[in-house]
Amino acid sequence: MTVLISGAASGIGAGLARELARAGHHVIVSDLRLADCREVAELIRSTGGSAEAAALDVTSDDSVASGLASVSRPIEVLVNDAGLQHVAPLEEFPIDRWNYLVQVMLVGSARLTRAVLPGMRERRFGRIVNVGSIHSLVASPNKSAYVAAKHGLLGLTKAIALETADTDITINTICPSYVKTPLVDKQIGDQARTRGIPEADVVREIMLKPMPKGVFIGIDELAGIATFLMSPAARNISGQAIVVDGGWTAQ
Ligand code: NAD
Repeated sequence: MTVLISGAASGIGAGLARELARAGHHVIVSDLRLADCREVAELIRSTGGSAEAAALDVTSDDSVASGLASVSRPIEVLVNDAGLQHVAPLEEFPIDRWNYLVQVMLVGSARLTRAVLPGMRERRFGRIVNVGSIHSLVASPNKSAYVAAKHGLLGLTKAIALETADTDITINTICPSYVKTPLVDKQIGDQARTRGIPEADVVREIMLKPMPKGVFIGIDELAGIATFLMSPAARNISGQAIVVDGGWTAQ
């Protein structure tokens, strides 16, 4: 299948690109950062996979249109992964930054989904996999924009599942707790500063403590779930949150 991944220059998106290419899919590695996308795509090709790079800013209609116009094949699977974090109490959270997080992770996912849906409808097939978060289900202090955007993504998922129920298109959101990526590395530093505690304590006491399993989630786990959601076995799974949280929300 042809899989377009947003935010694929780094972290989970880049990891999913590598894993899905290894599974035989053609991957379109898209991000704001075109040079990094090219590197990820080149690495995939150098190991025998099939990939291309595309510049695509999910906050811009023009960029989404030109990014999609540049790709070589129709998109069968969309992975909405682009995201970022900002950690601050609401009173100190710059409102422009708050708005930008929502624009990238919620409105951006809607914009890109909206852009690929007509093609999927025409071909009567599509799989949309959103990268949500454990923060689609529960909150943490100082992450109001992220929590609001990720909760909103579940609402978007449910609404679009209903709008596409008349054809073989599904949309679901994978909700992982912490995955060790550059986004999380930055948060470890930010949280240590905001809370005035050592970085090792942020990892042990804040990130891993709520997870009974006590380990970071692996990108291979997320790729496995995405692969399942793309498979015929999942054709009637739509509008769902697939939670990968080491038992966090079982408590
Ligand atoms: P990351 O910072 O490594 O990667 C995020 C990518 O998104 C970057 O390459 C960045 O350039 C890109 N991006 C940001 N704004 C963009 C825009 N406007 N248009 C296109 N691309 C844009 O972070 P990550 O940890 O790999 O996060 C990826 C996704 O996974 C995010 O949606 C994040 O919320 C989610 N997530 C991460 C974790 C975790 O623990 N790392 C846990 C749950 C969910």
